[in-house]
Amino acid sequence: ESHKETLGFQTEVKQLLQLMIHSLYSNQEIFLRELVSNASDAIDHLRFQAISDPALLEGPHEPRIRIDFDKDAGTVTVEDNGIGMGRDEVIANLGTIARSGTAELLRSMSGEQKKDSQLIGQFGVGFYSSFIVAERVDVFTRRAGRPASEGVHWSSRGDGEFDIATIEKAEPGTRIVLQLKDDAKDFADGWRLRDIVKRYADHIGARIEMPGTPPEDDAPGAPAWEAVNDASALWTRPRSEVGDEEYRSFYQHVTHDFQDPLAWSHNKVEGNLEYTSLLYLPAHAPFDLYHRDGSHGLKLYVQRVFITDKAEQFLPRYLRFVRGVVDSSDLSLNVSREILQNNPMIGSMKTALTRRVLDMLDKLSGDADKYATFWDQFGEVLKEGPAEDFGNREKIAALLRFSSTHDDSGKPSVALADYVARMKDGQDKIYYLVGESHTQLRNSPHLEVFRKKGIEVLLFSDRIDEWMMGYLHEFDGKSFVDAGRGDLDLGALDSEADKAAQEEVAKSRQGLVDRLKVALGEQVSDVRVSHRLTDSPAVLAIGENDIGAQMRQILEASGQ
Ligand code: ADP
Ligand code: MG
Repeated sequence: ESHKETLGFQTEVKQLLQLMIHSLYSNQEIFLRELVSNASDAIDHLRFQAISDPALLEGPHEPRIRIDFDKDAGTVTVEDNGIGMGRDEVIANLGTIARSGTAELLRSMSGEQKKDSQLIGQFGVGFYSSFIVAERVDVFTRRAGRPASEGVHWSSRGDGEFDIATIEKAEPGTRIVLQLKDDAKDFADGWRLRDIVKRYADHIGARIEMPGTPPEDDAPGAPAWEAVNDASALWTRPRSEVGDEEYRSFYQHVTHDFQDPLAWSHNKVEGNLEYTSLLYLPAHAPFDLYHRDGSHGLKLYVQRVFITDKAEQFLPRYLRFVRGVVDSSDLSLNVSREILQNNPMIGSMKTALTRRVLDMLDKLSGDADKYATFWDQFGEVLKEGPAEDFGNREKIAALLRFSSTHDDSGKPSVALADYVARMKDGQDKIYYLVGESHTQLRNSPHLEVFRKKGIEVLLFSDRIDEWMMGYLHEFDGKSFVDAGRGDLDLGALDSEADKAAQEEVAKSRQGLVDRLKVALGEQVSDVRVSHRLTDSPAVLAIGENDIGAQMRQILEASGQ
Protein backbone atom coordinates (compact mmCIF):
# COMPACT_ATOMS: atom_id res chain seq x y z
CA GLU A 1 0.00 0.00 0.00
CA SER A 2 1.13 3.55 -0.71
CA HIS A 3 -0.19 7.12 -0.43
CA LYS A 4 -1.96 6.18 2.74
CA GLU A 5 -4.07 8.82 4.47
CA THR A 6 -6.86 9.07 7.02
CA LEU A 7 -9.81 11.32 6.25
CA GLY A 8 -12.96 12.29 8.15
CA PHE A 9 -16.51 11.64 6.99
CA GLN A 10 -18.71 14.60 6.11
CA THR A 11 -20.90 15.54 9.10
CA GLU A 12 -24.05 14.26 7.37
CA VAL A 13 -22.45 10.85 6.90
CA LYS A 14 -21.60 10.63 10.59
CA GLN A 15 -25.17 11.51 11.53
CA LEU A 16 -26.60 9.09 9.01
CA LEU A 17 -24.40 6.26 10.26
CA GLN A 18 -25.51 6.78 13.85
CA LEU A 19 -29.19 7.07 13.03
CA MET A 20 -29.10 4.16 10.67
CA ILE A 21 -27.50 1.78 13.09
CA HIS A 22 -30.24 2.57 15.59
CA SER A 23 -33.29 2.81 13.39
CA LEU A 24 -32.59 -0.01 10.94
CA TYR A 25 -31.66 -2.54 13.54
CA SER A 26 -34.62 -4.74 12.62
CA ASN A 27 -33.92 -4.45 8.89
CA GLN A 28 -30.34 -5.65 9.05
CA GLU A 29 -30.47 -7.68 5.88
CA ILE A 30 -30.98 -4.66 3.61
CA PHE A 31 -27.21 -4.21 3.51
CA LEU A 32 -27.06 -7.04 0.98
CA ARG A 33 -29.74 -5.53 -1.19
CA GLU A 34 -27.83 -2.23 -1.22
CA LEU A 35 -24.46 -3.77 -2.04
CA VAL A 36 -25.88 -5.98 -4.78
CA SER A 37 -27.77 -3.03 -6.18
CA ASN A 38 -24.57 -0.93 -6.30
CA ALA A 39 -22.74 -3.80 -7.98
CA SER A 40 -25.50 -4.06 -10.55
CA ASP A 41 -25.40 -0.28 -11.15
CA ALA A 42 -21.62 -0.48 -11.58
CA ILE A 43 -22.04 -3.17 -14.24
CA ASP A 44 -24.74 -1.14 -15.98
CA HIS A 45 -22.46 1.91 -16.03
CA LEU A 46 -19.52 -0.03 -17.42
CA ARG A 47 -21.62 -1.48 -20.23
CA PHE A 48 -23.01 1.93 -21.05
CA GLN A 49 -19.59 3.60 -21.18
CA ALA A 50 -18.15 0.71 -23.18
CA ILE A 51 -20.55 1.52 -26.02
CA SER A 52 -18.37 4.50 -26.90
CA ASP A 53 -15.12 3.11 -25.46
CA PRO A 54 -14.93 -0.70 -25.91
CA ALA A 55 -11.37 -0.79 -24.51
CA LEU A 56 -12.90 -0.32 -21.05
CA LEU A 57 -14.01 -3.94 -21.05
CA GLU A 58 -10.38 -5.16 -21.03
CA GLY A 59 -11.22 -8.26 -23.04
CA PRO A 60 -14.30 -10.47 -23.07
CA HIS A 61 -16.70 -9.33 -20.41
CA GLU A 62 -19.13 -11.61 -18.65
CA PRO A 63 -20.92 -9.35 -16.16
CA ARG A 64 -21.28 -10.96 -12.76
CA ILE A 65 -21.62 -10.29 -9.08
CA ARG A 66 -20.09 -12.74 -6.63
CA ILE A 67 -21.16 -13.16 -3.04
CA ASP A 68 -18.84 -15.11 -0.79
CA PHE A 69 -18.57 -15.70 2.95
CA ASP A 70 -16.21 -17.14 5.54
CA LYS A 71 -17.89 -18.57 8.61
CA ASP A 72 -14.71 -18.81 10.67
CA ALA A 73 -13.50 -15.33 9.89
CA GLY A 74 -17.03 -13.89 10.15
CA THR A 75 -16.92 -12.10 6.80
CA VAL A 76 -19.20 -11.53 3.83
CA THR A 77 -17.75 -10.39 0.49
CA VAL A 78 -19.55 -8.83 -2.48
CA GLU A 79 -17.53 -8.49 -5.67
CA ASP A 80 -18.42 -7.14 -9.09
CA ASN A 81 -16.66 -6.63 -12.41
CA GLY A 82 -18.32 -3.30 -13.05
CA ILE A 83 -16.92 0.18 -13.63
CA GLY A 84 -15.01 0.46 -10.32
CA MET A 85 -13.77 3.71 -8.80
CA GLY A 86 -10.65 5.85 -8.86
CA ARG A 87 -9.21 7.37 -5.68
CA ASP A 88 -11.08 10.69 -5.90
CA GLU A 89 -14.34 8.92 -6.64
CA VAL A 90 -13.90 6.69 -3.61
CA ILE A 91 -13.34 9.71 -1.39
CA ALA A 92 -16.38 11.51 -2.80
CA ASN A 93 -18.73 8.51 -2.99
CA LEU A 94 -17.84 6.76 0.24
CA GLY A 95 -17.18 9.79 2.41
CA THR A 96 -19.94 12.26 1.59
CA ILE A 97 -23.62 12.36 0.64
CA ALA A 98 -24.26 14.49 -2.40
CA ARG A 99 -28.05 14.39 -2.34
CA SER A 100 -29.65 17.75 -1.68
CA GLY A 101 -31.91 18.01 1.33
CA THR A 102 -30.00 15.39 3.31
CA ALA A 103 -29.24 17.66 6.25
CA GLU A 104 -32.92 18.63 6.42
CA LEU A 105 -34.00 14.99 6.35
CA LEU A 106 -31.60 14.05 9.13
CA ARG A 107 -32.87 16.91 11.28
CA SER A 108 -36.44 15.67 10.89
CA MET A 109 -35.64 12.29 12.40
CA SER A 110 -37.71 11.69 15.50
CA GLY A 111 -35.69 9.08 17.34
CA GLU A 112 -38.65 6.73 17.04
CA GLN A 113 -37.43 3.55 15.43
CA LYS A 114 -40.37 2.72 13.23
CA LYS A 115 -40.90 6.22 11.85
CA ASP A 116 -37.23 6.83 11.28
CA SER A 117 -36.70 3.55 9.53
CA GLN A 118 -39.39 4.51 7.01
CA LEU A 119 -37.91 7.94 6.46
CA ILE A 120 -34.43 6.63 6.08
CA GLY A 121 -35.68 3.79 3.91
CA GLN A 122 -37.17 6.11 1.34
CA PHE A 123 -34.01 8.18 1.42
CA GLY A 124 -32.00 5.14 0.35
CA VAL A 125 -29.23 4.40 2.81
CA GLY A 126 -27.06 2.79 0.16
CA PHE A 127 -23.49 1.77 0.80
CA TYR A 128 -23.46 3.03 4.37
CA SER A 129 -25.96 0.35 5.36
CA SER A 130 -22.96 -2.00 5.48
CA PHE A 131 -22.29 -0.62 8.93
CA ILE A 132 -25.58 -1.99 10.25
CA VAL A 133 -23.95 -5.44 10.27
CA ALA A 134 -20.22 -4.75 9.93
CA GLU A 135 -17.76 -3.49 12.50
CA ARG A 136 -15.29 -2.88 9.73
CA VAL A 137 -15.70 -2.48 5.97
CA ASP A 138 -12.90 -2.82 3.41
CA VAL A 139 -13.38 -1.75 -0.19
CA PHE A 140 -10.89 -2.78 -2.90
CA THR A 141 -11.59 -1.17 -6.23
CA ARG A 142 -10.10 -0.16 -9.53
CA ARG A 143 -11.63 1.94 -12.25
CA ALA A 144 -12.00 0.07 -15.55
CA GLY A 145 -9.46 1.33 -18.07
CA ARG A 146 -6.91 2.48 -15.46
CA PRO A 147 -3.65 0.56 -14.84
CA ALA A 148 -3.51 -2.19 -12.21
CA SER A 149 -1.24 0.03 -10.08
CA GLU A 150 -4.12 2.49 -9.57
CA GLY A 151 -6.21 0.28 -7.33
CA VAL A 152 -7.66 1.80 -4.17
CA HIS A 153 -8.16 0.36 -0.71
CA TRP A 154 -10.74 2.11 1.52
CA SER A 155 -11.26 0.95 5.06
CA SER A 156 -13.40 2.17 7.93
CA ARG A 157 -15.02 1.15 11.21
CA GLY A 158 -17.85 3.62 10.60
CA ASP A 159 -16.78 5.77 13.54
CA GLY A 160 -16.08 9.05 11.82
CA GLU A 161 -13.00 8.37 9.73
CA PHE A 162 -11.74 6.18 6.91
CA ASP A 163 -8.29 5.16 5.68
CA ILE A 164 -7.47 5.26 2.02
CA ALA A 165 -4.44 3.88 0.19
CA THR A 166 -3.26 3.06 -3.33
CA ILE A 167 -2.85 -0.65 -4.08
CA GLU A 168 -2.22 -3.07 -6.95
CA LYS A 169 -5.44 -4.60 -8.19
CA ALA A 170 -5.27 -7.02 -11.11
CA GLU A 171 -8.98 -7.02 -12.00
CA PRO A 172 -11.06 -3.90 -12.58
CA GLY A 173 -14.22 -3.60 -10.49
CA THR A 174 -14.98 -3.57 -6.80
CA ARG A 175 -14.68 -6.02 -3.92
CA ILE A 176 -16.30 -5.16 -0.60
CA VAL A 177 -15.45 -7.15 2.52
CA LEU A 178 -17.60 -6.86 5.63
CA GLN A 179 -16.16 -7.91 8.96
CA LEU A 180 -19.40 -8.80 10.74
CA LYS A 181 -20.31 -7.60 14.22
CA ASP A 182 -20.80 -10.30 16.85
CA ASP A 183 -24.59 -10.07 16.66
CA ALA A 184 -24.57 -10.32 12.85
CA LYS A 185 -22.23 -13.28 12.43
CA ASP A 186 -25.10 -15.46 11.23
CA PHE A 187 -25.02 -13.67 7.88
CA ALA A 188 -21.83 -15.60 7.08
CA ASP A 189 -23.96 -18.51 5.99
CA GLY A 190 -24.68 -19.78 2.49
CA TRP A 191 -28.38 -20.50 3.02
CA ARG A 192 -29.07 -17.25 4.73
CA LEU A 193 -27.39 -15.27 1.95
CA ARG A 194 -29.08 -17.24 -0.82
CA ASP A 195 -32.43 -16.68 0.78
CA ILE A 196 -31.91 -12.91 0.87
CA VAL A 197 -30.63 -12.78 -2.69
CA LYS A 198 -33.66 -14.74 -3.87
CA ARG A 199 -35.98 -12.27 -2.24
CA TYR A 200 -34.26 -9.06 -3.21
CA ALA A 201 -32.31 -9.70 -6.33
CA ASP A 202 -33.81 -12.49 -8.37
CA HIS A 203 -34.81 -10.13 -11.17
CA ILE A 204 -31.50 -8.27 -11.41
CA GLY A 205 -30.17 -8.41 -14.95
CA ALA A 206 -26.61 -9.40 -13.97
CA ARG A 207 -25.69 -12.93 -12.92
CA ILE A 208 -25.24 -13.32 -9.19
CA GLU A 209 -22.99 -16.18 -8.17
CA MET A 210 -22.22 -17.93 -4.91
CA PRO A 211 -19.82 -20.77 -4.13
CA GLY A 212 -21.46 -24.09 -4.96
CA THR A 213 -21.57 -26.96 -2.51
CA PRO A 214 -18.10 -28.54 -2.59
CA PRO A 215 -17.99 -31.93 -4.36
CA GLU A 216 -17.81 -35.16 -2.27
CA ASP A 217 -14.09 -35.64 -2.66
CA ASP A 218 -13.52 -32.10 -1.45
CA ALA A 219 -11.41 -31.28 -4.48
CA PRO A 220 -8.96 -28.48 -3.75
CA GLY A 221 -8.81 -25.31 -5.83
CA ALA A 222 -11.15 -22.48 -6.54
CA PRO A 223 -14.77 -22.93 -5.51
CA ALA A 224 -17.18 -23.68 -8.32
CA TRP A 225 -19.41 -20.64 -8.71
CA GLU A 226 -23.10 -21.23 -9.09
CA ALA A 227 -25.71 -18.78 -10.40
CA VAL A 228 -28.29 -18.03 -7.71
CA ASN A 229 -30.64 -15.62 -9.47
CA ASP A 230 -32.77 -15.59 -12.54
CA ALA A 231 -30.72 -12.85 -14.20
CA SER A 232 -33.56 -11.85 -16.50
CA ALA A 233 -34.56 -8.23 -16.25
CA LEU A 234 -38.07 -8.44 -14.81
CA TRP A 235 -39.75 -5.96 -17.14
CA THR A 236 -38.74 -8.01 -20.18
CA ARG A 237 -40.83 -10.96 -19.03
CA PRO A 238 -44.49 -11.35 -20.08
CA ARG A 239 -46.92 -9.95 -17.56
CA SER A 240 -48.66 -13.28 -17.10
CA GLU A 241 -45.42 -14.84 -15.87
CA VAL A 242 -44.60 -12.31 -13.19
CA GLY A 243 -46.12 -12.69 -9.73
CA ASP A 244 -47.20 -9.86 -7.43
CA GLU A 245 -44.39 -10.66 -5.00
CA GLU A 246 -41.86 -10.26 -7.80
CA TYR A 247 -43.36 -6.95 -8.84
CA ARG A 248 -43.12 -5.76 -5.25
CA SER A 249 -39.56 -6.82 -4.77
CA PHE A 250 -38.56 -5.25 -8.07
CA TYR A 251 -40.12 -2.04 -6.82
CA GLN A 252 -37.86 -2.19 -3.78
CA HIS A 253 -34.90 -2.71 -6.05
CA VAL A 254 -35.73 0.35 -8.14
CA THR A 255 -36.74 2.68 -5.32
CA HIS A 256 -35.05 1.36 -2.16
CA ASP A 257 -38.42 1.93 -0.54
CA PHE A 258 -39.37 -0.33 2.38
CA GLN A 259 -43.10 -0.04 1.87
CA ASP A 260 -45.05 -1.83 -0.85
CA PRO A 261 -46.26 0.23 -3.80
CA LEU A 262 -49.96 1.11 -4.09
CA ALA A 263 -50.23 -0.05 -7.69
CA TRP A 264 -48.24 -0.79 -10.81
CA SER A 265 -48.76 -0.99 -14.53
CA HIS A 266 -46.63 -3.12 -16.83
CA ASN A 267 -47.00 -2.72 -20.57
CA LYS A 268 -45.32 -3.70 -23.76
CA VAL A 269 -46.06 -1.41 -26.67
CA GLU A 270 -45.55 -2.66 -30.18
CA GLY A 271 -45.96 -1.08 -33.58
CA ASN A 272 -44.68 2.29 -34.63
CA LEU A 273 -42.83 2.82 -31.41
CA GLU A 274 -41.64 -0.14 -29.42
CA TYR A 275 -41.03 0.07 -25.75
CA THR A 276 -41.82 -1.55 -22.43
CA SER A 277 -42.79 0.35 -19.33
CA LEU A 278 -43.23 -0.74 -15.75
CA LEU A 279 -44.63 2.11 -13.69
CA TYR A 280 -45.25 2.15 -9.94
CA LEU A 281 -47.27 4.36 -7.61
CA PRO A 282 -45.47 4.57 -4.26
CA ALA A 283 -47.48 4.54 -1.04
CA HIS A 284 -45.72 7.56 0.39
CA ALA A 285 -44.05 10.75 -0.72
CA PRO A 286 -40.25 10.98 -0.85
CA PHE A 287 -38.75 13.67 1.35
CA ASP A 288 -37.69 15.76 -1.63
CA LEU A 289 -40.99 15.75 -3.51
CA TYR A 290 -41.21 19.54 -3.32
CA HIS A 291 -37.52 20.35 -3.74
CA ARG A 292 -36.85 22.14 -6.97
CA ASP A 293 -33.94 19.79 -7.68
CA GLY A 294 -35.43 16.78 -5.91
CA SER A 295 -34.65 13.51 -7.61
CA HIS A 296 -37.33 11.94 -9.77
CA GLY A 297 -37.71 10.31 -13.14
CA LEU A 298 -37.73 6.84 -14.59
CA LYS A 299 -34.89 4.41 -15.09
CA LEU A 300 -34.20 4.38 -18.81
CA TYR A 301 -32.90 1.36 -20.69
CA VAL A 302 -32.36 0.96 -24.40
CA GLN A 303 -32.68 -2.68 -25.43
CA ARG A 304 -31.94 -3.70 -21.85
CA VAL A 305 -28.79 -1.61 -21.63
CA PHE A 306 -29.03 0.84 -18.77
CA ILE A 307 -28.82 4.47 -19.93
CA THR A 308 -29.76 6.69 -17.03
CA ASP A 309 -31.34 6.61 -13.63
CA LYS A 310 -33.43 9.74 -13.51
CA ALA A 311 -34.89 10.32 -16.94
CA GLU A 312 -37.33 13.16 -16.27
CA GLN A 313 -38.42 13.52 -19.88
CA PHE A 314 -40.93 10.69 -19.92
CA LEU A 315 -43.52 12.12 -17.56
CA PRO A 316 -44.77 15.63 -16.77
CA ARG A 317 -43.69 17.21 -13.50
CA TYR A 318 -47.08 16.80 -11.87
CA LEU A 319 -46.62 13.03 -12.10
CA ARG A 320 -43.10 13.11 -10.66
CA PHE A 321 -44.07 10.71 -7.87
CA VAL A 322 -44.26 7.82 -10.36
CA ARG A 323 -41.27 5.48 -10.31
CA GLY A 324 -40.23 2.65 -12.57
CA VAL A 325 -38.52 1.60 -15.75
CA VAL A 326 -38.89 2.34 -19.43
CA ASP A 327 -37.01 0.29 -22.01
CA SER A 328 -37.03 1.52 -25.58
CA SER A 329 -36.13 -0.51 -28.65
CA ASP A 330 -36.01 2.51 -30.93
CA LEU A 331 -33.70 4.97 -29.21
CA SER A 332 -30.02 4.82 -30.02
CA LEU A 333 -27.67 3.47 -27.39
CA ASN A 334 -25.71 6.67 -27.77
CA VAL A 335 -28.68 8.68 -26.66
CA SER A 336 -27.59 11.90 -24.99
CA ARG A 337 -29.29 14.40 -22.75
CA GLU A 338 -29.95 16.71 -25.69
CA ILE A 339 -31.51 13.92 -27.69
CA LEU A 340 -33.73 13.07 -24.76
CA GLN A 341 -34.86 16.66 -24.57
CA ASN A 342 -35.67 17.26 -28.22
CA ASN A 343 -36.75 13.92 -29.54
CA PRO A 344 -40.28 13.66 -30.99
CA MET A 345 -40.24 9.95 -30.17
CA ILE A 346 -39.82 10.79 -26.51
CA GLY A 347 -42.66 13.27 -26.87
CA SER A 348 -45.03 10.52 -28.03
CA MET A 349 -43.84 8.19 -25.31
CA LYS A 350 -44.46 10.91 -22.75
CA THR A 351 -48.00 11.40 -24.02
CA ALA A 352 -48.70 7.66 -23.85
CA LEU A 353 -47.07 7.14 -20.46
CA THR A 354 -48.96 10.11 -19.02
CA ARG A 355 -52.22 8.54 -20.14
CA ARG A 356 -51.15 5.24 -18.59
CA VAL A 357 -50.55 6.87 -15.25
CA LEU A 358 -53.85 8.75 -15.35
CA ASP A 359 -55.61 5.48 -16.17
CA MET A 360 -53.79 3.72 -13.36
CA LEU A 361 -54.98 6.45 -10.98
CA ASP A 362 -58.51 6.19 -12.28
CA LYS A 363 -58.43 2.48 -11.60
CA LEU A 364 -56.96 3.02 -8.16
CA SER A 365 -59.78 5.43 -7.32
CA GLY A 366 -62.08 2.41 -7.25
CA ASP A 367 -60.38 1.40 -3.99
CA ALA A 368 -61.39 4.14 -1.56
CA ASP A 369 -58.75 3.34 1.08
CA LYS A 370 -55.86 3.13 -1.32
CA TYR A 371 -56.97 6.22 -3.15
CA ALA A 372 -57.23 8.14 0.12
CA THR A 373 -53.61 7.16 0.83
CA PHE A 374 -52.58 8.27 -2.62
CA TRP A 375 -54.44 11.54 -2.28
CA ASP A 376 -53.00 12.27 1.13
CA GLN A 377 -49.45 11.78 -0.14
CA PHE A 378 -49.61 13.17 -3.66
CA GLY A 379 -52.88 15.09 -4.08
CA GLU A 380 -51.17 18.47 -3.93
CA VAL A 381 -48.76 17.48 -6.68
CA LEU A 382 -51.57 16.27 -8.91
CA LYS A 383 -53.18 19.68 -8.48
CA GLU A 384 -50.28 21.12 -10.50
CA GLY A 385 -51.71 19.12 -13.41
CA PRO A 386 -54.39 21.37 -14.89
CA ALA A 387 -51.83 24.16 -15.31
CA GLU A 388 -49.12 21.96 -16.76
CA ASP A 389 -51.12 19.59 -18.91
CA PHE A 390 -53.95 21.42 -20.60
CA GLY A 391 -54.85 18.49 -22.86
CA ASN A 392 -55.55 16.16 -19.96
CA ARG A 393 -57.21 18.63 -17.63
CA GLU A 394 -60.62 16.97 -17.75
CA LYS A 395 -59.04 13.62 -16.86
CA ILE A 396 -57.02 15.19 -14.09
CA ALA A 397 -60.06 17.05 -12.78
CA ALA A 398 -61.88 13.74 -12.45
CA LEU A 399 -59.08 12.52 -10.19
CA LEU A 400 -59.16 15.49 -7.82
CA ARG A 401 -60.72 15.20 -4.37
CA PHE A 402 -62.06 17.98 -2.18
CA SER A 403 -63.91 18.47 1.03
CA SER A 404 -67.34 20.02 0.75
CA THR A 405 -70.41 21.07 2.69
CA HIS A 406 -71.87 17.67 1.90
CA ASP A 407 -70.35 16.22 5.04
CA ASP A 408 -68.68 17.64 8.12
CA SER A 409 -65.63 15.40 8.13
CA GLY A 410 -63.37 17.89 6.37
CA LYS A 411 -61.82 14.91 4.58
CA PRO A 412 -61.00 15.46 0.93
CA SER A 413 -63.20 12.68 -0.38
CA VAL A 414 -65.55 14.40 -2.81
CA ALA A 415 -64.90 13.90 -6.51
CA LEU A 416 -66.27 16.47 -8.96
CA ALA A 417 -68.43 13.70 -10.43
CA ASP A 418 -69.98 13.16 -6.96
CA TYR A 419 -70.74 16.84 -6.75
CA VAL A 420 -72.32 16.95 -10.19
CA ALA A 421 -74.47 13.92 -9.38
CA ARG A 422 -75.83 15.76 -6.34
CA MET A 423 -76.55 19.06 -8.12
CA LYS A 424 -79.98 20.60 -7.56
CA ASP A 425 -82.58 20.95 -10.30
CA GLY A 426 -81.80 24.13 -12.16
CA GLN A 427 -78.20 24.26 -10.90
CA ASP A 428 -75.68 24.57 -13.73
CA LYS A 429 -72.59 25.75 -11.86
CA ILE A 430 -70.12 24.19 -9.47
CA TYR A 431 -69.69 26.41 -6.44
CA TYR A 432 -66.56 26.58 -4.34
CA LEU A 433 -65.24 28.72 -1.55
CA VAL A 434 -61.58 29.42 -0.78
CA GLY A 435 -60.30 29.92 2.75
CA GLU A 436 -57.50 29.30 5.20
CA SER A 437 -58.82 26.23 6.91
CA HIS A 438 -61.75 23.91 6.89
CA THR A 439 -63.07 25.34 10.16
CA GLN A 440 -62.90 28.88 8.89
CA LEU A 441 -64.73 27.85 5.72
CA ARG A 442 -67.43 25.98 7.59
CA ASN A 443 -68.24 29.15 9.51
CA SER A 444 -68.09 31.51 6.58
CA PRO A 445 -71.15 33.78 6.11
CA HIS A 446 -70.74 33.22 2.36
CA LEU A 447 -72.27 29.78 2.85
CA GLU A 448 -75.52 31.04 4.38
CA VAL A 449 -77.49 31.35 1.18
CA PHE A 450 -76.23 27.97 -0.04
CA ARG A 451 -77.28 26.32 3.17
CA LYS A 452 -80.68 27.88 2.91
CA LYS A 453 -81.13 26.55 -0.59
CA GLY A 454 -79.45 23.20 0.13
CA ILE A 455 -76.71 23.68 -2.46
CA GLU A 456 -73.38 21.92 -1.96
CA VAL A 457 -70.21 24.04 -1.96
CA LEU A 458 -66.67 22.69 -2.38
CA LEU A 459 -64.32 23.93 0.33
CA PHE A 460 -60.79 24.79 -0.80
CA SER A 461 -58.14 25.31 1.84
CA ASP A 462 -54.97 23.98 0.18
CA ARG A 463 -52.51 26.69 -0.67
CA ILE A 464 -52.51 25.63 -4.29
CA ASP A 465 -56.30 25.49 -4.80
CA GLU A 466 -57.03 29.04 -5.87
CA TRP A 467 -54.06 29.05 -8.22
CA MET A 468 -55.22 25.78 -9.74
CA MET A 469 -58.70 27.18 -10.33
CA GLY A 470 -57.09 29.76 -12.60
CA TYR A 471 -56.54 26.84 -15.02
CA LEU A 472 -59.64 24.79 -14.41
CA HIS A 473 -62.69 26.49 -15.83
CA GLU A 474 -65.24 23.75 -16.08
CA PHE A 475 -65.95 20.13 -15.41
CA ASP A 476 -68.48 18.02 -17.30
CA GLY A 477 -69.64 21.17 -19.08
CA LYS A 478 -70.35 23.02 -15.84
CA SER A 479 -68.35 26.10 -15.01
CA PHE A 480 -66.86 26.83 -11.62
CA VAL A 481 -68.01 29.81 -9.57
CA ASP A 482 -66.19 31.26 -6.58
CA ALA A 483 -68.90 31.73 -3.96
CA GLY A 484 -66.86 34.45 -2.24
CA ARG A 485 -66.68 36.75 -5.21
CA GLY A 486 -68.58 39.68 -6.66
CA ASP A 487 -72.29 39.69 -7.17
CA LEU A 488 -73.30 36.11 -6.65
CA ASP A 489 -75.67 35.07 -9.41
CA LEU A 490 -77.48 31.87 -8.60
CA GLY A 491 -79.15 31.80 -12.01
CA ALA A 492 -82.15 29.51 -12.20
CA LEU A 493 -81.72 28.61 -8.55
CA ASP A 494 -83.36 31.94 -7.65
CA SER A 495 -87.02 32.02 -8.64
CA GLU A 496 -88.51 35.08 -10.35
CA ALA A 497 -90.28 35.91 -7.13
CA ASP A 498 -86.95 35.74 -5.22
CA LYS A 499 -85.37 38.11 -7.70
CA ALA A 500 -88.21 40.61 -7.56
CA ALA A 501 -88.11 40.57 -3.77
CA GLN A 502 -84.35 41.13 -3.82
CA GLU A 503 -84.70 44.16 -6.08
CA GLU A 504 -87.41 45.51 -3.87
CA VAL A 505 -85.16 45.23 -0.81
CA ALA A 506 -82.23 46.76 -2.68
CA LYS A 507 -84.29 49.80 -3.65
CA SER A 508 -85.67 50.37 -0.20
CA ARG A 509 -82.16 50.24 1.36
CA GLN A 510 -80.45 52.58 -1.12
CA GLY A 511 -80.21 55.29 1.52
CA LEU A 512 -78.34 53.02 3.93
CA VAL A 513 -76.01 51.87 1.16
CA ASP A 514 -75.14 55.48 0.26
CA ARG A 515 -74.36 56.34 3.88
CA LEU A 516 -72.14 53.24 4.25
CA LYS A 517 -70.22 54.16 1.09
CA VAL A 518 -69.46 57.57 2.49
CA ALA A 519 -68.48 56.16 5.89
CA LEU A 520 -66.20 53.43 4.51
CA GLY A 521 -64.75 55.61 1.75
CA GLU A 522 -61.53 54.27 0.19
CA GLN A 523 -61.51 51.08 2.25
CA VAL A 524 -63.98 49.33 -0.03
CA SER A 525 -64.61 49.47 -3.75
CA ASP A 526 -68.37 49.06 -3.50
CA VAL A 527 -71.23 48.48 -1.09
CA ARG A 528 -74.21 46.42 -2.22
CA VAL A 529 -77.34 44.94 -0.78
CA SER A 530 -76.67 41.23 -0.74
CA HIS A 531 -79.05 38.34 -0.72
CA ARG A 532 -76.40 35.84 0.21
CA LEU A 533 -76.84 36.28 3.95
CA THR A 534 -79.52 34.89 6.20
CA ASP A 535 -78.02 35.38 9.69
CA SER A 536 -75.02 37.70 9.40
CA PRO A 537 -75.61 41.44 8.87
CA ALA A 538 -72.67 41.97 6.49
CA VAL A 539 -69.90 40.14 4.63
CA LEU A 540 -66.70 41.18 2.85
CA ALA A 541 -66.73 39.83 -0.72
CA ILE A 542 -63.89 39.83 -3.23
CA GLY A 543 -64.36 41.75 -6.47
CA GLU A 544 -65.02 39.74 -9.62
CA ASN A 545 -61.55 40.36 -11.00
CA ASP A 546 -59.48 40.89 -7.88
CA ILE A 547 -56.74 38.60 -6.63
CA GLY A 548 -58.09 36.23 -4.01
CA ALA A 549 -56.90 36.22 -0.41
CA GLN A 550 -54.98 32.97 -0.83
CA MET A 551 -53.17 34.10 -3.96
CA ARG A 552 -52.39 37.41 -2.29
CA GLN A 553 -50.68 35.57 0.56
CA ILE A 554 -48.65 33.44 -1.83
CA LEU A 555 -47.55 36.51 -3.78
CA GLU A 556 -46.71 38.42 -0.62
CA ALA A 557 -44.72 35.48 0.73
CA SER A 558 -42.70 35.39 -2.48
CA GLY A 559 -42.02 39.11 -2.22
CA GLN A 560 -44.24 40.38 -5.04
P1 ADP B 1 -26.41 5.33 -4.63
O1 ADP B 1 -26.25 3.93 -5.10
O2 ADP B 1 -27.85 5.67 -4.34
O3 ADP B 1 -25.73 6.36 -5.49
P2 ADP B 1 -24.77 4.43 -2.49
O4 ADP B 1 -24.48 4.92 -1.12
O5 ADP B 1 -25.31 3.05 -2.58
O6 ADP B 1 -25.72 5.45 -3.19
O7 ADP B 1 -23.43 4.48 -3.34
C1 ADP B 1 -22.75 5.71 -3.44
C2 ADP B 1 -21.90 5.75 -4.67
O8 ADP B 1 -20.74 4.94 -4.51
C3 ADP B 1 -22.55 5.22 -5.92
O9 ADP B 1 -23.34 6.20 -6.56
C4 ADP B 1 -21.34 4.83 -6.76
O10 ADP B 1 -20.84 5.98 -7.44
C5 ADP B 1 -20.34 4.40 -5.75
N1 ADP B 1 -20.33 2.94 -5.60
C6 ADP B 1 -20.87 2.21 -4.60
N2 ADP B 1 -20.66 0.90 -4.81
C7 ADP B 1 -20.00 0.78 -5.97
C8 ADP B 1 -19.51 -0.32 -6.75
N3 ADP B 1 -19.69 -1.59 -6.36
N4 ADP B 1 -18.84 -0.05 -7.89
C9 ADP B 1 -18.66 1.23 -8.30
N5 ADP B 1 -19.11 2.30 -7.63
C10 ADP B 1 -19.77 2.09 -6.47
MG1 MG C 1 -26.79 2.31 -4.04
